[in-house]
Amino acid sequence: MMKDIPDKETNAADVGQVTLKSVEPAHPAVPTVQPRVVIVGAGFGGLRAATGLRDVPVDVTVIDRNNHHLFQPLLYQVATASLSPADICAPIRHVLKKQKNTEVLMDEVTGVDVQEQRVFMGDQAVPYDYLILATGARDSYFGHNDWAKFAPGLKSIRQATEIRSRILWAFEQAEKETDEEKRQALLTFVLVGAGPTGVEMAGSIAGLAHKTLTNEFHHINPADARIILVEAVPRILLAFPERLANKAKNALNQLGVEVRTNSPVEDVNDEGVVIGGKLLPAKTVIWTAGVAASPAGTWLGAETDRGGRVKVSSDVSVPGHPTIFVLGDTAQFMQDGKPLPGVAQVAMQQGSYVARVIADRVAGKEHNAAFRYFDKGNMATIGRFHGIVSIGKLQFAGILAWFAWLVLHLMFLIGFRNRLVVMFLWVWYYTTFQRGARLITSEDTSRSV
Ligand SMILES: Cc1cc2nc3c(=O)[nH]c(=O)nc-3n(C[C@H](O)[C@H](O)[C@H](O)COP(=O)(O)OP(=O)(O)OC[C@H]3O[C@@H](n4cnc5c(N)ncnc54)[C@H](O)[C@@H]3O)c2cc1C
Repeated sequence: MMKDIPDKETNAADVGQVTLKSVEPAHPAVPTVQPRVVIVGAGFGGLRAATGLRDVPVDVTVIDRNNHHLFQPLLYQVATASLSPADICAPIRHVLKKQKNTEVLMDEVTGVDVQEQRVFMGDQAVPYDYLILATGARDSYFGHNDWAKFAPGLKSIRQATEIRSRILWAFEQAEKETDEEKRQALLTFVLVGAGPTGVEMAGSIAGLAHKTLTNEFHHINPADARIILVEAVPRILLAFPERLANKAKNALNQLGVEVRTNSPVEDVNDEGVVIGGKLLPAKTVIWTAGVAASPAGTWLGAETDRGGRVKVSSDVSVPGHPTIFVLGDTAQFMQDGKPLPGVAQVAMQQGSYVARVIADRVAGKEHNAAFRYFDKGNMATIGRFHGIVSIGKLQFAGILAWFAWLVLHLMFLIGFRNRLVVMFLWVWYYTTFQRGARLITSEDTSRSV
């Protein structure tokens, strides 16, 4: 599609040193009379906004740097070889193919000109009447960006396959390592940050080491692996009630995971992590701690919170810019005096809401109802057969919660093929412990021991 886009100079051709080219609508021969809505990001929020505009008389342009929507809640299963990348992704173009008013562009957005109403993708620009920024979040290393190369985060498919390679590579190296200390470091896996992702990853690595890999090595016992979940604050899973967090902690202990709370990490390097001034030797460190918003706030010059989230108004628009909306992980929306959490439901509900606001405005109607998040609850899984669920006053843990987790994640996964495949793979995995995606694909596993 990009080949068809004419390289036409814009009126205000220069922004800084860059000569900008304008991206015309997909079918330039047909004059556009409808307002143009540009949606940046086809994650949970952006995709909901796009589908909400399906029958609205607008032209929609969805821009994403990836060609696929990613179901992040199951990324940890890709990182631990239970699922393959394609099982949790859906091509954006395919998802939106029946939506005749919508085009999809794959590119990285680099900025926004709020005066000229244009979105920049390098030296190209797309005009908009309404703009929806749903660009999600990225890892935050709390000012220690140099830790990233030793401790990858888990936000993208690339990172998930990188982590998968590092974990599997560590076992392979340990098999041929003769030095006991080095072998122990290879068999030590540290997860920094005990939110749902850290907890789920830890449980899954424990299952890999203690069940999946047993009897496959001659010189090591994979069950000797240490899986250590490190948390700076006094308890794990802060978003859950303490009673459920304690149950999760017990379940982790039963799986052989060491949980260390009150343990802020002081350094991460090639040798491992430093906690309380002491080095904990570990060749695999995974960052499941901080997140920061995408740089959308900088593009707009808008007010942001400490995490870079744009402070939005009650209709999810940017104060002073009623045609620009920022949602999901990139926005800070205050409800009842507290910011909404960075979860998929917030992004999806905001996406649907913004689509309704735009539909009303296009129809010449006022949309006076402020956005209000309906909390459908929180859930997490810990290894096989154990989960925790918190829905208002309803809280439970154990196999029922685990089952509820499975069903809900299947329901929200995009694409019938993915649902079917994942359901089959789960039955296979949870009954045999076998994982079908045990591939070392990254070249970055060649770090010296
Ligand atoms: C490992 C993990 C597990 C999670 N588990 C859960 C869970 O169990 N339950 C839950 O509710 N939430 C969970 N979350 C959080 C949830 O995934 C996010 O809150 C949700 O994805 C936010 O939706 P969003 O639309 O704001 O952003 P995203 O879904 O992250 O989408 C952002 C999109 O923007 C695109 N993009 C970003 N920058 C640019 C750019 N410059 N140009 C073009 N495109 C760009 C990205 O490619 C992406 O497609 C999890 C998150 C992670 C990382």
